Amino acid sequence: MSASLKGRVVVVTGGSKGIGRGIAKVFAEAGAIVAIMARHADDADAAARTIGYGAYGIFGDVTVHQSLIAAFAEVAERSGGIDVLCANAGIFPQARLEDMTETQWDTVSNTNLKGTFMSVQAALPYLKQSDQGRVVLTSSITGPVTGYPGWAHYAATKAGQLGFMRTACIELAKYGITMNAVLPGNIITEGLAGMGEDYQRTMAASVPLKRLGTVEDIGYAALYFASKEAAYVTGQTIIVDGGQILPETLEALD
Ligand code: NAP
Repeated sequence: MSASLKGRVVVVTGGSKGIGRGIAKVFAEAGAIVAIMARHADDADAAARTIGYGAYGIFGDVTVHQSLIAAFAEVAERSGGIDVLCANAGIFPQARLEDMTETQWDTVSNTNLKGTFMSVQAALPYLKQSDQGRVVLTSSITGPVTGYPGWAHYAATKAGQLGFMRTACIELAKYGITMNAVLPGNIITEGLAGMGEDYQRTMAASVPLKRLGTVEDIGYAALYFASKEAAYVTGQTIIVDGGQILPETLEALD
């Protein structure tokens, strides 16, 4: 599987931290040329240096159309095209429904859902030129499968990404481009660390595999969807959560 990514050009949005950095690392180790996009270009450069294997950082904001156009043009110019887009950038601030402001809703929606649409659309001219065009979305279990207080807006965007995917992948099929989504459970990232230790302890206790996920756990699933071997798989999801969604009650766990 790794061999089919050798020399492929991969853009990871939100690749400077957390899951995106894990995806970038796994692809780089598989021989891909990885461009790491984030709003803080210094962080993107730092992540690229840590990963090595010729990875590089680029500035890009998924909420700004022109920024995406410029970022993808920069990658195509520097690396000769784009084969794989990992649309991963996302935010998850919490707000209870009763207090949620329109601005909070719009901010989460603009990054996670509209940002996914705009990233895919801006990458399309390059993906169409590839003989292994792939889009891999980072969704979540929250929204498509589960719920969590404070994340009504976030959950809506993560479920929305899958609705977007199921029609977009049909439109892109004629170019041989596939689009699939990874649904992470609770993965140890800078973003999740911000939720506090109590949250992390409670979550780990509700996972049958008894640990939170690593960013590489998500990277390996993304790598499969991007591979040559997954050429006939499109519009699909894979849950990577250590079995977290399975127990009917906490008593079901030992
Ligand atoms: P994180 O550690 O907070 O990292 C977020 C990344 O996205 C950073 O690189 C950040 O860099 C970038 N980013 C944020 N807004 C952006 C924008 N407008 N344009 C471009 N880049 C932007 O988050 P994470 O935990 O790794 O989450 C990554 C993805 O996984 C999200 O889509 C999230 O919904 C999903 N997810 C996470 C978990 C989890 O347990 N951590 C579980 C399920 C799903 P800049 O701030 O420099 O832009």
